[in-house]
Amino acid sequence: MILAVSILQPATIFGSSYRGRFAPSPTGPLHLGSLATALGSWLDARAHQGKWLLRIEDVDVPRSLPGATETILYQLGACGLQWDEDLIYQSQRTPHYETALQQLYQAGLVYPCTCSRQGIVNVLAAQGIHPRRHEELIYPRICRPTHIPHSLANAEFFNLAGPGAWRIALQSKELNQSVGDFVLRRADGFFTYQMAVVVDDASQNITHIVRGADLASNTARQIYLQSVLGYPTPHYRHLPLVLDAQGEKLSKQTLASAIHTENTTLSLLALQQAARHLGLSDLPNDAHCTIAEWLLAATQAWREQKI
Ligand code: GLU
Ligand code: ZN
Repeated sequence: MILAVSILQPATIFGSSYRGRFAPSPTGPLHLGSLATALGSWLDARAHQGKWLLRIEDVDVPRSLPGATETILYQLGACGLQWDEDLIYQSQRTPHYETALQQLYQAGLVYPCTCSRQGIVNVLAAQGIHPRRHEELIYPRICRPTHIPHSLANAEFFNLAGPGAWRIALQSKELNQSVGDFVLRRADGFFTYQMAVVVDDASQNITHIVRGADLASNTARQIYLQSVLGYPTPHYRHLPLVLDAQGEKLSKQTLASAIHTENTTLSLLALQQAARHLGLSDLPNDAHCTIAEWLLAATQAWREQKI
């Protein structure tokens, strides 16, 4: 049973220089769903004899949970999912995101926006559009100027938005309809996931992204940003939510509770569950093999099933 969805992009990178990554947000410990993503991306990297990088996506500092990063690192280590190269933290990379925003500004592709959510809802309502409570709003371009000035000095540029956000002025018809001019830097000064992930995937030279299907709806935005920033587009593969042995969707409770890695037996059990979650079958199921042996068998199984 092959459960991975592969989206091949036009400007993809081929070759033996595979560089993958796992990019958890430190909002809590790893649960079965996030372990499955970690395992899937690790196996894909190892099956390609590639590198597997780890990036802590704490760009949204207020949402990060103190201690969560340490727990995640401990859990990955306990499961034998060793990463290559230096770990990077998005919270330490603001200057890189600022450079990218400036680049887009110089190209006349971003503009400041001071709209509140309510303000946007009101404008949409006047157009007969009534989004549901938590639905992402398609921004009706209230603040988008007809001509975006881009000759200001950097200092002026960063003062331009004042308390406002920065949005991208989309030139893509498809994205205009599905998401609208989305935010790259929020009014509170933090960069958004879309901006940070694209800048970091490029600066870490990531060639293959293997992640959960819940993130698939972001891919078009990320490819768009790559194209306007002049970055290469990696391969994307999204691992869908998988059914359990009874054909039932794994419940939120099952997914949300932290995996146990207090000893080798428990870590192995968590890995075995994650592998089933990925649709890998026929793996050593006993508690007697070592984690390294199990991971080797899983890499072999991944190679046979997924390439
Ligand atoms: N940080 C994101 C998350 O934990 C994943 C980002 C990505 O893989 O693109 O959901
Ligand atoms: Zn606005």
